[in-house]
Parts: sequence; C-alpha cells; structure tokens
Amino acid sequence: MAGEDNSKIRVRFAPSPTGHLHIGGARTALYNWLFARSNGGVFILRIEDTDLKRSTEENVRKITDSLEWLGLDWDEGPDRGGAHGPYRQTERLQLYTEIAETLITEGKAYRCYCTVEEIDNARDEAKRAGKPYVYGGRCSGLTEADQEAFRDEGRKPVIRLRTPADGKTVVNDIIRGEVGFENALTGDFILVRASGVPTYNLAAAVDDSLMEISHVIRGDDHLPNTPKQILILNALGRKAPFYAHLPLILGPDRTPLSKRHGSASVEELKDAGYVREAAINYLALLGWSYDEKTTLFSTQELIEKFSLKRVGSNAAVFDMNKLTWMNGVYIREMDPEELVKRIDSYIRTTRLAGLPGENGKPEIKQLVPMVKDKIKSLAEFITLTDFFFLPAEFETGAIDILKRGEGAKDILEAVRQLLPDIQPFVAAEIEKELRECAAGMDLKLGKFLQPLRIAVSGKTVTPGMFESLEVLGSAESLRRIDAAIALLDA
Ligand code: GLU
Repeated sequence: MAGEDNSKIRVRFAPSPTGHLHIGGARTALYNWLFARSNGGVFILRIEDTDLKRSTEENVRKITDSLEWLGLDWDEGPDRGGAHGPYRQTERLQLYTEIAETLITEGKAYRCYCTVEEIDNARDEAKRAGKPYVYGGRCSGLTEADQEAFRDEGRKPVIRLRTPADGKTVVNDIIRGEVGFENALTGDFILVRASGVPTYNLAAAVDDSLMEISHVIRGDDHLPNTPKQILILNALGRKAPFYAHLPLILGPDRTPLSKRHGSASVEELKDAGYVREAAINYLALLGWSYDEKTTLFSTQELIEKFSLKRVGSNAAVFDMNKLTWMNGVYIREMDPEELVKRIDSYIRTTRLAGLPGENGKPEIKQLVPMVKDKIKSLAEFITLTDFFFLPAEFETGAIDILKRGEGAKDILEAVRQLLPDIQPFVAAEIEKELRECAAGMDLKLGKFLQPLRIAVSGKTVTPGMFESLEVLGSAESLRRIDAAIALLDA
C-alpha cells in the first residue's frame, strides 16, 4: 500500500472461539504481543469463527476477557476496528469465495464433485494398502459438460487447490529452521467446502496476506498446515509471512497439557487467585528464556528482553507449583494498596466470602499486612481470613483437636476472664496479657494459643493471634470463646 512501511511488524492472535482461552493459546497470544510490543509493531486479534457449529459469541467474550485480564491489548480487532478489517472470518466469507473463484478462473483451483463416501472409500483403500491418503486428482481435469452432469446428479462441489505433484514445500521456520514437506503427500486439498464455507487453511492464508501479517507465531500443532498455506499464497502470487512455530506445552508427566494437570485455562487461573503479573511471567517462560537462569521478569522487562531467537524448539513443561511459587512472590512484592484492590475485586467476583468492610466487618486493608507474606494466591487470603467476616466454622478435625487438647477448657476459661479487662483492646496489650497468662499457667505460648485460635477462627492456621483478636474486637472474641466453651461442655 502506498506510503506504508512494508518492513513493519504486524502479528496476529487468531483464536477459534470454540472454548476458553487455554494456557497454550495464552502463551501464543503473549509471544505475539511481546514480539509486537518489543518491535514497535502491531498486534491484531482475528476471530477464526468459520467452524459455525462450535464457535459462539460467549466464547469470543471469554477469550477477550481473558486477554484483557492478562493485559494483552490489541491494536486492531473486531471491537477495535482497523484498516484491514473486518476481523471476524464469518464477516469475510464473500471474500474467500471470490478469491477461490479467481483461482478457478486462473486454472489454479478446480471444483471437485467427489462425494464424502467416495473420499472415505479412497481413504479406506489407502489404509488397507498401508499408504497415507492423498486425494488422487480425479476431478482435476473435468470438462464443463462433466461438471454439469455431476451437478445434475445433485452433487455439490468443493473447491480444491491444484498443487505440484512433486518437489517439496519448504517452511523456513524461525524456531525450527527448514522443514520440508513432500508435495506428493499434500495432494490437491480443499479450499472451500461444499457448504461454501472456506477451510481454515484458505481463510488463514488469505487473511494473513490481506492483513499484511509479517510474522505468523503459533503453536507447532499448526506446522503441518503451513506448507498448505504457503502453496495457497504461491497460487495467489503473494508473499508468505515469516513463520515461528512455538514448542508444545506438556504437563509434569510429559503428556500434552490438559485439564488433568490442573487449571488449563486463563479463566481458571484467575478464579484460583493468580495475579496477572505472575501468569504473564510464567507463561513467558514456557518456551522462551533470557539467560537460562533468570525467572522473574516484570511485563516491561519481558517487552525489553523478549526475542523469538531465544524460543527453543523443545517442549516446555507447565509446572503448577512453580507458577504458585511465582504468584506468592508477586503478592509479597506488590504494593499493599494495589493488593487490597486486587483482593477486593477478587472477593467480589468470586463471592467466596461475606463482604469485608460492611456492617462493622474489618476492611481488607486491615488484614493485608497480617497475611501478605503467608499467601501464595488471592484465594488463600480468603481461606485465611474468612472467619473475620463469617461465623467461625470449625474445619474438619479442628473441633477434635480442641476436645482432645489437654487443658483446652481451662485455657479458654482463663482467657475469657482476662479479655474484658484488656484496655485498649489492641494487639500489643493483648499480647502482653496473654503471654503473662500463659506463663502463669506454665504453658508454652504456642500450646496456650492453639485452643484460642481454634475457638475464634475454627482453624488451626490463622494470621497472628493477637492481631486477629484485635480485629475481631473484644465482644466478638468473647462470644466465640463462650460458644467454644459451650461446645466443650456439651
Ligand atoms: N484458529 C487457529 C486456532 O485456534 C489459529 C491458527 C493460526 O494461528 O493460524 O488454533
């Protein structure tokens, strides 16, 4: 296009909206985004919704929500517009048909009237002979009269690309180097189905070209499609983009990553209380490394340091424990005010706990300093602190510990006597009095606090006991201790 810089980096993330944004898709989106952002390029979102049965609006929204949560903003896309739109393939159907028709006119493609049964039979025959199936070109030389006869039989044609019978199509992949594909094994493949809907290969190749994509960065499950897309672009007389196929992602058992390995979608990570910075950092390391040893990178550092040259071709292993560790690091290092905001919106979206700050309940910001170093996810904030907002519920086993605990009742009775006199009811005072009381009973502090902890929280692990009692307040602490004593008496 006149005046346009052809050397400009333009990349795209092209999800099919048939489900959530999975870890693999998110990694692909991230690498495209990082490549664009680190090169002053353009990141495009293209919705590949030609699988009409499985594509839904809801899935488009789920995918864009996840991209937004990750902070992967796109410059051109369905809701953002751009000079190369529309960005949804179902809005471009006419275009693909016209291009396929032009290829027919030029003799580069042809209509094929073979029925599904005929193709299936040929496939079975190839299987029996132990050969890979390749379309035999039966319809490649049909005259207009032959075609009419087929149409009269009610056959609906597909459109196939005429491909070279021999030689190789070479993919010069940035990550994997040269990979050659025998044309004889590709055969004349389908561009447009009998329904008039284009195949993925036609739509993707046409769009990559018309949208002036400079680099196609995608999962290596798509590598076998690449020679087909190159053949289509050759037929159209258009230049192929550069290709970079990203290594497979495996679970810790070295089988392809799936739900079995825990959270397999970005939405699940978000719901489990991971923060976006940790998710981005971790996803970036699934195939790319800076120096083989540095693991923590802010998003800004990733933009500065990312390069396709340092993406390996070996499969990457997704390790939930490492992600969780990283999440803990980001939470500990997060500005407390920001962490309060994240926890607040997390609690509101998950509705896992009563609402903090309402009806005299403590505010999140009171609790954050007490738990910041203990939690590895936003969800753990809730696990550790929900007893402040909700009536204490005894977790499994906690009540038995209380009942079996030697002298538990004596301890609770003693604290019960003590609490109303602690003035002001603040952590330092509470600590002083309780330490004295423990010493007076000749008990180690940990042992002394355990029944108290269970009585007020229902849990065996809580934030610091003195601060927790201060936050609960004297009256509520007493109520809970009384209830526990009653339970022990029962
Ligand atoms: N729509 C394809 C998918 O979701 C993407 C293919 C591509 O990036 O070319 O797998």
